[in-house]
Amino acid sequence: MQNKNKIKQLVKNNCASYLGDRHGISNYCCWKDGLCVFFDQDNPLPSCRYFENGVLPSDEKLERDYKLERNMHVDRQIAKPKVNCKKCGTTFEANSNRQSYCEKCTEKNKKERAKLRMRKMRLKQA
Ligand SMILES: [Zn+2]
Repeated sequence: MQNKNKIKQLVKNNCASYLGDRHGISNYCCWKDGLCVFFDQDNPLPSCRYFENGVLPSDEKLERDYKLERNMHVDRQIAKPKVNCKKCGTTFEANSNRQSYCEKCTEKNKKERAKLRMRKMRLKQA
């Protein structure tokens, strides 16, 4: 689905100013007292402050796309958390909150664990 259609859907479902058919206007917005900008065919890149502040934040991805489309500052970045590696101390971007070692150390840890496993296996066999 295109972002435009997604926005319309969001407006219809969540915007408190969107009243549907009112005063002979379909897709009436009581905040603008007229046609909801997102249903205005002539407006290729509509924007609405009410929508941006009150409705859009409920859809993080759409908010991002919406703001990027309009060259707006994206303040709620889905930035990766910066973490200091527990082992070597380098700062890296973690993919999850549970990640506490940098990639290099994660690799090393894996190898070390594999080694330990091998050792244990050998001990068992002995
Ligand atoms: Zn490290």
